[in-house]
Amino acid sequence: PLVIGIESSCDETGVAIVRGTELLANEVASSVEQHVRFGGVVPEVASRAHLQAIVPALRRATEAAGVDLADVDGICVTAGPGLMGALVVGLSAAKALAIALDKPLYGLNHLVGHVAVDLLDHGPLPERFGALLVSGGHTSLLVVDDITGAITEVGSTIDDAAGEAYDKVARLLGMGYPGGPLIDRAAADGDPTAIAFPRGLTSRKDLARHRFDFSFSGLKTAVSRWVETRELAGEEIPVADVCASFQEAVCDVLTAKAMDMCDHYGLDTILLGGGVAANSRLRGLLQERADAAGVTVRRPRPGLCTDNGAMMAALGAEVIRRGRPASSLGIGANSGLPVSTVVV
Ligand code: ATP
Ligand code: MG
Ligand code: FE
Repeated sequence: PLVIGIESSCDETGVAIVRGTELLANEVASSVEQHVRFGGVVPEVASRAHLQAIVPALRRATEAAGVDLADVDGICVTAGPGLMGALVVGLSAAKALAIALDKPLYGLNHLVGHVAVDLLDHGPLPERFGALLVSGGHTSLLVVDDITGAITEVGSTIDDAAGEAYDKVARLLGMGYPGGPLIDRAAADGDPTAIAFPRGLTSRKDLARHRFDFSFSGLKTAVSRWVETRELAGEEIPVADVCASFQEAVCDVLTAKAMDMCDHYGLDTILLGGGVAANSRLRGLLQERADAAGVTVRRPRPGLCTDNGAMMAALGAEVIRRGRPASSLGIGANSGLPVSTVVV
């Protein structure tokens, strides 16, 4: 199928066009610069930026793909989770297109899009696989039996998301926003064994109740305290070592629990998705541990890990290929849409 994918759940306005698993166009406009001075995404600012960016992005995408909009088989759009005011911009645009072109509308789950996008890079998904979803707002372990409808969340973060931890630590180190890519880069010059930061929910007692869950707020507090103590003593902060040691703590727990899930559920493929999946250490360490366990790793190219329209188009093409029913034109956006609801 030929589909349009529209994404507007946070601060990226994405419009992409996909034919089957072939990416024909992927236009992304980010409002990130408008949020930098606030140290985080300001919902109202993001909504206005989407409204301004969406039609130009759609024009650029159709032009780049060289397709006629009249030929598409479906309009696929993020229906949640995300910022309500941001979601409604993309969803309204998608509804308008669906009516004007008389094509079916598919309101889809953003998080499942982060997993499905790997279809564009590595082809059809296995029958059954595990997924480690790590993004700015979510951190979960999933067992996927069918990307278009049968997804089980076996664990998730009980406090901060991994990306949120990266952003908060970068902020307390005065590095800027978004923090993930900045810490990733700074860590390359640091020693990951320099500081022993805590690994959340890995004690024997915690594992009994939270085997596949994550916690990153204690780690963030530990980094904050470590830095504060040095600052009060008038010592220089070894930023690269702090970044590398923090990153090692995050990636160690994420990959250890992902491999434990594969072992427990008998999964031979682990797919890494979400914005934090762009992280170099996470990609490397997961590959290392999966190789040792005989598990195949799948992960999209870093450029497709953060929010974009291609992920929604990839998921939509698969939903249409499997003959799933389209959404009603009366659907609403759902800022808290659970990962198990793929099509709204
Ligand atoms: P969600 O998908 O949960 O709704 P989101 O869409 O806001 O949240 P994404 O765009 O998927 O989040 O990911 C953004 C997050 O990824 C940010 O927290 C950012 O710091 C982080 N990130 C991006 N690149 C990297 C990297 N190289 N290393 C670590 N984190 C990264
Ligand atoms: Mg973003
Ligand atoms: Fe996202």
